[in-house]
Amino acid sequence: MGLVIHEELVNQETGEALKALCPFGAISYENGKLEINAACKNCKMCVRKGPVGVITYEEEKVELINKDDYKGVCVYADIDHGQTHKVTFELIGKAKELAAVINHPVYALVIGHQTKKNVEELLSYGVDKVFAYDHEGLKDYDIEKYTNCFADFISRIKPSSILVGATNVGRSLAPRVAARFHTGLTADCTKLEMKENTDLVQIRPAFGGNIMAQIINPNHRPQFATVRYKIFNAPKKVENPS
Ligand code: SF4
Repeated sequence: MGLVIHEELVNQETGEALKALCPFGAISYENGKLEINAACKNCKMCVRKGPVGVITYEEEKVELINKDDYKGVCVYADIDHGQTHKVTFELIGKAKELAAVINHPVYALVIGHQTKKNVEELLSYGVDKVFAYDHEGLKDYDIEKYTNCFADFISRIKPSSILVGATNVGRSLAPRVAARFHTGLTADCTKLEMKENTDLVQIRPAFGGNIMAQIINPNHRPQFATVRYKIFNAPKKVENPS
């Protein structure tokens, strides 16, 4: 929505008045037609000071999501030639801390081929559940196929937060999946905190590292964050993983 012109109230007098009023020259009135062009700075002067009701500002209606529909902190397991990248274990450690705040389970998502060994390894680090998309067609990284698997996982399981290692694969996959769900992604987080309302506080340097930005996604799920290798510590392995 935004600025709305009510044509029925546009005439020579109101059109000329609005044209003269706009401080950015964004309003034109020609041949009986009132228009707002790209120079508009949304200052709303025309709404407040212009002839009453000719231009109004309509707020966009935001549909609030139900955060209770989303559960779990998920780690994408980056597997390269059969080896799980170590950043995955570091993210599991952080996911466990974050999930404990909101009493959510910790998930891992595996996409690849012959991943049984990787799944067992992930479970040994205390992940509650591993979801594996295992097929010979997924042996090598393919952005379309991997995105489809990732999206299928999100649609079915609805995790609240997803942590992805900032590897070559993670950097290419995470934004694409986030875009499919019209949700945000914060790249290269250096700190992550969890609010009790399940909002993930994603902290990263901004403006050349001069400030630390805290980013939250209050009305979108899942929340995506990528983290580089060696930012967090890997947790100890658990005995008798379930
Ligand atoms: S909102 Fe401000 S800039 Fe935009 S058309 Fe109205 S007066 Fe001009």
